[in-house]
Amino acid sequence: MEFGWAPEQEQYRERVKAALDELLPADWDETYVPESYASDLQVHFSREFCAKLAERGLLVPHWPREYGGNESPDWEHFILGEEMKGAGEPRGPQYMNVNWIGPTLMAYGSEAQKDQHVKGIASGKVIWCQGFSEPNAGTDLAALRTRAERDGDHYVVNGSKIWTSYARTADWCFLLARTGPTRKDISILLVPMDTPGISITSFPGVIKDGHLNEVFFTDVRVPVQNRVGEEGEAWKIVTYALSYERVGVPRYHTGLLALELAVEQLKAEGRWDDDPIVRSRAGSIAARFEGARLLTYRVIDQRVHRLPATTDANLSRIASLEAVSDLMNFLGEFVPDCLAGGDPLLEDYYRINIPAGITGGTNEIQLDLVAQRGLGLPRG
Ligand SMILES: Cc1cc2nc3c(=O)[nH]c(=O)nc-3n(C[C@H](O)[C@H](O)[C@H](O)COP(=O)(O)OP(=O)(O)OC[C@H]3O[C@@H](n4cnc5c(N)ncnc54)[C@H](O)[C@@H]3O)c2cc1C
Repeated sequence: MEFGWAPEQEQYRERVKAALDELLPADWDETYVPESYASDLQVHFSREFCAKLAERGLLVPHWPREYGGNESPDWEHFILGEEMKGAGEPRGPQYMNVNWIGPTLMAYGSEAQKDQHVKGIASGKVIWCQGFSEPNAGTDLAALRTRAERDGDHYVVNGSKIWTSYARTADWCFLLARTGPTRKDISILLVPMDTPGISITSFPGVIKDGHLNEVFFTDVRVPVQNRVGEEGEAWKIVTYALSYERVGVPRYHTGLLALELAVEQLKAEGRWDDDPIVRSRAGSIAARFEGARLLTYRVIDQRVHRLPATTDANLSRIASLEAVSDLMNFLGEFVPDCLAGGDPLLEDYYRINIPAGITGGTNEIQLDLVAQRGLGLPRG
């Protein structure tokens, strides 16, 4: 398949690059990128940065006008995502809002929720976190135990969430909680993070400090009007939300940039020209990323043509994750100093991608979905 960008799409990319040149501080790569996405420095920056993007129509260009967008083609949003990711994702946690929380609320939120939250997200000033996983409920989310019990016009929430990225800096949590006895009785609540009864403990991980948190809910009162959709309707809504998230991150873009940095380093050290194995491995990784790119573009094209979601989204994610895994092995073998005082951008890439096959749904589960829904194979 021959893929090329239309002239107006190239122009759009140039516009995004010009905005990045103008809005990123001169020491962005040296000072900000090496910090965790969830560090106070980056989150504070990303709030200001996103508000400026919003003013320029570059935060949610593809959204409907009534919600602060410009109804521009989905491709433009994707080009925007590639350039932001390539620059070290200065939108910080806002990619979640823009990619799936906003669209999900547009589809399933009440008028009041749309008015408050979708517009808030479009302004770039609000930060959200995703309260799904629990200590014994990750892949098997239906096993979650955080409860929300009705008490008049409120729910009272008790339980805990784990791995909640950005919890310390988020204004709101998109929370999954059990509202009845069966596995299906799960609902979505929009919870202000400053509600009394919420406490947060950060824990260290391969991604730098501040990113990973445990969030505890003790008798947290949440108004019933903060529920999204009907009680017990969470699965339908989450399935919709995750179909947006799966292709949300253009991993091939950052992967190819990291590969380029590694190749530059290998050349500078004189280990490129003389080693055909290094060159062939790098070539095959680049080819895998290009394959992942085309699969992702196919999914975007389906979306642009308003076709129903298919397992192509899972396939594009699997292809990206497999290319990332090859690159991680390559870095570990040939550029091991990327984790010990080498290039900070490569170190950042390496750390963020150690759990790449886990975050947002593991690779094994993606493969299962392709087998069952795409190929019609029976459940194993
Ligand atoms: C860096 C990072 C950030 C995260 N951020 C968030 C966040 O902001 N909010 C949030 O809610 N969660 C977050 N998560 C949690 C993430 O969604 C879970 O880690 C993920 O869903 C896997 O769940 P688990 O860790 O409980 O692993 P498990 O579900 O216990 O899985 C362990 C292994 O078993 C395999 N496995 C499990 N069940 C099956 C099956 N049926 N068939 C085949 N294989 C299976 C899995 O593929 C995996 O390899 C984050 C995780 C990480 C690492």
